[in-house]
Amino acid sequence: MQVNCLGCGHMINLGHDYDNYKGPVRCNVCRTMTTIETESGKVKSVSPAGKGL
Ligand SMILES: [Zn+2]
Repeated sequence: MQVNCLGCGHMINLGHDYDNYKGPVRCNVCRTMTTIETESGKVKSVSPAGKGL
């Protein structure tokens, strides 16, 4: 499972634990929090963490 960081474009490697996941992840390069939603190993949505909360 990989997603692009919205802050710096770094490809965050999350492993298979995140193949079905909804919640925040942190980029280890720029420390930006990004909220992701994944299903069956595919990214459904990526948005800045905390938006609208
Ligand atoms: Zn980043």
